[in-house]
Amino acid sequence: EYVIEAENLTITYNGYEAVKDLTFKLKKGETMLLLGPNGAGKTTLLKVLAGFHTEYRGKILVFGKPPVEVKDRVAYVPQTFSLNTRVPLSVLDVVAMGALYKRGVVHFNVPREVIDRALEVLDFLGLKHLAERPFRELSGGQKQRVLIARALMSNPELLLLDEPLSALDPKARIDATSALSKIKAEIGLTMVITTHDVNPLIEIGDKVMLIDRRLVAFGTPEEVLRDEIIGSVYGPAS
Ligand code: ADP
Ligand code: ADP
Repeated sequence: EYVIEAENLTITYNGYEAVKDLTFKLKKGETMLLLGPNGAGKTTLLKVLAGFHTEYRGKILVFGKPPVEVKDRVAYVPQTFSLNTRVPLSVLDVVAMGALYKRGVVHFNVPREVIDRALEVLDFLGLKHLAERPFRELSGGQKQRVLIARALMSNPELLLLDEPLSALDPKARIDATSALSKIKAEIGLTMVITTHDVNPLIEIGDKVMLIDRRLVAFGTPEEVLRDEIIGSVYGPAS
């Protein structure tokens, strides 16, 4: 029933405790907003959930197993994505690569079913018209939605997004938020979204976790987003 179960989870880098004593649970279909200032440990927790970082103590289970054992059911949308290719990749290439990457297949030989699936995912997010455009020429907001589309290629059951709105202008933030809202409503995906500002995402958050190198608060948005709780980390509102 729970997609994520963490109990007294402490995550370390060569023994250094980056974030301590996290206890929380997330159910299937729920979206958790992971809030905290710079250096709070948000990316670190996402990397553990994605199975990329394995230096921790305490309990962390994803689908009832250690994250490293369920990597294929989890997709991670990084904050930045650099393309070091000589030939400019099209949006379609970038999305199709989402399915091929794990299999180690070279992208120049993309099977037809992968192309079809990529077009379907682009269409779902209202991006099909961009399919042939060079990825690097897109706006920041378009790039962010293409990266979300890419993550959906593997039909993940848990979607992890690192600061998906942070580099975007207000219009692009709205577009990215509607994309996430659509994924929640129509696919019912379980999501963890890191953010230093919950405001744009508040309507899709079932749970909010506030961390500051330790757990400050975990609960519904109404329980956590209270002046005295937020103020204890960010300082009192002026
Ligand atoms: P946030 O995403 O909330 O800004 P991070 O998870 O990036 O925070 O960082 C949390 C803490 O872990 C910071 O103190 C940071 O310096 C440390 N940290 C992050 N990545 C590494 C790393 N690769 N090696 C050592 N320390 C790291
Ligand atoms: P990425 O986001 O690309 O995975 P990381 O945050 O893991 O990058 O950091 C990349 C490298 O930088 C790591 O090998 C790590 O050793 C180093 N690093 C990052 N943050 C810190 C930090 N706060 N203290 C020490 N080393 C760090």
